[in-house]
Amino acid sequence: IPLDRFRNFCIVAHIDHGKSTLSDRLLEITGTISSSNTNRQILDTLEVERERGITVKAQTCTMIYNHNGEDYLLHLVDTPGHVDFRAEVTRSYASCGGALLLIDASQGVQAQTVANFFLAFAEGLKILPVINKIDMTAADVPRVLEQIESTFELDSSKAIGVSAKTGLNVKNLLPAIVDTIPAPAGDATKPLRMLLVDSWYDSFRGVVCLVRLFDGTVKAGDQLVSFATGHKYTVGEVGIRYPTQVPQTILRAGQVGYVFFNPGMKKIQDAKLGDTYTTVGSEDVVEPYPGFEEPKPMVFVAAFPTDPADYSRLSDSISQLVLNDRSITLYKDHSEALGAGWRVGFLGSLHCSVFQDRLRQEYGASVIITEPAVQTKVMWENGQETIHQSPVDFPEFEERKTRATFFEPFVLATLTVPEEYLGRAIELCEASRGEQESIEFFQGMQVILKYRIPTAQLVDDLFGKLKGVTKGYATLDYEDAGWRESDLVKLQLLVNKQPVDAIARVVHRSQVERLGRQWVTKFKEHVQRQMFEVVIQAAVGKKIIARETLKPFRKDVLAKLHASDITRRKKLLEKQKEGRKKLRAVGNVVIEQEAFQKFLAK
Ligand code: GDP
Ligand code: MG
Repeated sequence: IPLDRFRNFCIVAHIDHGKSTLSDRLLEITGTISSSNTNRQILDTLEVERERGITVKAQTCTMIYNHNGEDYLLHLVDTPGHVDFRAEVTRSYASCGGALLLIDASQGVQAQTVANFFLAFAEGLKILPVINKIDMTAADVPRVLEQIESTFELDSSKAIGVSAKTGLNVKNLLPAIVDTIPAPAGDATKPLRMLLVDSWYDSFRGVVCLVRLFDGTVKAGDQLVSFATGHKYTVGEVGIRYPTQVPQTILRAGQVGYVFFNPGMKKIQDAKLGDTYTTVGSEDVVEPYPGFEEPKPMVFVAAFPTDPADYSRLSDSISQLVLNDRSITLYKDHSEALGAGWRVGFLGSLHCSVFQDRLRQEYGASVIITEPAVQTKVMWENGQETIHQSPVDFPEFEERKTRATFFEPFVLATLTVPEEYLGRAIELCEASRGEQESIEFFQGMQVILKYRIPTAQLVDDLFGKLKGVTKGYATLDYEDAGWRESDLVKLQLLVNKQPVDAIARVVHRSQVERLGRQWVTKFKEHVQRQMFEVVIQAAVGKKIIARETLKPFRKDVLAKLHASDITRRKKLLEKQKEGRKKLRAVGNVVIEQEAFQKFLAK
């Protein structure tokens, strides 16, 4: 099939507007998968994506469509729908000539549709508006047509109404794709210029790369070099996904396909997002694709094995999870209370919670995960700046003899809210220390709010809370808005005056009272009584914010215990020995690991 009959496209949509369903339907109509195929939503291959109904990694699938007697090669590049994965979205768009702008007829245009449209538009993609779910009684097609004109300034007469679910009118989409979306530019006779769009780990082949060829060709045996790392590789196999990996003898300019190397690339971290590859020897004549970016983690958690003996086993599994996700950063960490563990960085809170879920699913009780935290920045009096990922190394109150200024990261959040929930959405933003940037009434029913909000508040389930106060109707999109000065303090939990480092948090001063009270009450519930009094306190520096006391065993209980027969005491001591592994000492207080786990669980 010649280049002018290639079409590379993606689907731009808000979550739940039917991207996966429509992809399946297109694959069916072109005979790529059979309609009886039970393997629904073929592009959402990762299990966790299927579970949550979200696409985390970009996938691609090739279809062959016969139009007026000629075969066309259509590459559908699936893109992550969630804003945590913005960089991945942009790279996927770069591999396409056009996009279907998919809008749910019952919901209308939503925040993510707008955000992703502008990303696609900025990449120069041709846009074909598609209205989905026209089978629903709540569908309001005229309203969506109007939004297409007013919001995107697109010709709404080109829009196609479909039902991805019933298949209604979907077959008319294919000729429109062929007509609207341009064939990829590119010259197969030029030296190779290949963009790495995505990658995943395959235990047999090592890292498999999803690539888009701008110029040139690539085949097994070719020697390639990466612009980002300078590493050289020999190509082991090339192919397309149709719908699973189908080897080809050659990939040519304009194509989207997969490549893996022999020997295989070992670390997913070597497969840099947005990196350009060329043939060894052509480095000087090929211009790399611009805008290659290292992923920037935004949310951090620490993870510890419940039983220190599990350290190496857990270490293997965490490395395995990280292996498949180049955007996770991993460092070793250590806690006085919990021992050796890891500090893990994520692109955003969804990304983080997906990882936590997986780890908990697989390891349940054997892992303790601390609360998600964001980075903080300290500017010291001498002008020096330090960035802190962990509350543990955040300067203590007493250390602030020199004057220092504290900064926390902010995001610019864009919320779409139906007008009737506007008041409650604004209340929530204000309570989350947000500052309003703008408010815009949109199509008479929806309001678009822009707020500057601390990233820490975003991470503290802002989206969940927003959905709560708007019956699920609001949407949230955000972008990084840099550092802002903030009155940050380190809140600590003390057990008989000893700080429990794993629980420390850097928070805004306004949150100290409420959180401190909550901590001591909650922690008391999970700690066992001891022979002596246990004092649980929340403190900022030397200042005690909240306090609870756990009374010792009563004297008569102890007396009874002493009076009991010797064999029973022996038994108890044996038991205690067994249990010792699971216990942690904080100062003179022995705390069960379970207590930490329960305390840190939501
Ligand atoms: P995605 O998040 O954009 O991938 O959306 P999905 O394809 O997972 O669809 C979200 C929900 O909408 C699912 O429950 C689908 O069954 C439903 N859905 C998708 N397309 C249609 C449609 O044309 N009509 C109706 N009634 N429901 C649809
Ligand atoms: Mg989906």
